[in-house]
Amino acid sequence: LVELTNVTKHFGSFQALSDINLTIPEGQVAIVIGPSGSGKSTLCRTINRLETIDDGGSIRIDGKELPEEGKALAQLRADVGMVFQSFNLFAHKSILENVTVGPIKVKGLKKAQATEEAMALLERVGVAQQAKKMPAELSGGQQQRVAIARALAMTPKVMLFDEPTSALDPEMVQEVLDVMVQLAQEGMTMVVVTHEMGFARQAGDRVIFMDEGFVLEDTDPESFFTRPQHERAKNFLGKIL
Ligand code: ATP
Ligand code: MG
Repeated sequence: LVELTNVTKHFGSFQALSDINLTIPEGQVAIVIGPSGSGKSTLCRTINRLETIDDGGSIRIDGKELPEEGKALAQLRADVGMVFQSFNLFAHKSILENVTVGPIKVKGLKKAQATEEAMALLERVGVAQQAKKMPAELSGGQQQRVAIARALAMTPKVMLFDEPTSALDPEMVQEVLDVMVQLAQEGMTMVVVTHEMGFARQAGDRVIFMDEGFVLEDTDPESFFTRPQHERAKNFLGKIL
């Protein structure tokens, strides 16, 4: 479903991604893990075309090459949902409006239908009671669940999560992970940057370990956590375990 071929990314002379080749099949939950600065966020951002990639590489979603700009790019972005570390809700819109604005503007849904679908999604992530409130009135965990509902409202083919729980107070981490586990069980294709090992083991099909822009290990969670191959992976696990 997601195919990266020879993906390299420079920021000036600095190489943030080095010749990444990955295929993520439909329904797979791929966990991306690695030290700070290893390129995890950059990887997510290139899949969504929030960053361009160097010439010679290609990224395909569902067989389609990522367009550079314009309407085709908007359509493609709709196929790729993204949830960030900082919740990024629209601060001046209600919770409900946060979820309906995309479907109305990009998918052309009527307000009534967008509202109905949004309420069902808010119900699913457990924040339907808060629909009329503003983002600032919600806890971090609630806001992040709204962010997930907002992404899902676009009916994406794949969901990217970039450290979705790392800005949360500890007691709110699980409620967000629970929603993500449920999504995984429903068969959503997911790329999840996280150091939450419990989640990786429970919901992950695969662990991709990155370091300095390279994919060093690409294996199943159990093998990665019990028998990491590279010295760097061992070091890293030593620090986070
Ligand atoms: P963290 O765990 O801290 O979130 P990360 O693995 O997500 O780290 P990235 O944010 O992908 O790392 O960054 C990879 C490298 O690319 C870093 O060295 C970073 O400084 C550099 N980088 C990222 N974005 C830019 C940018 N817009 N301009 C210049 N350098 C950048
Ligand atoms: Mg990052």
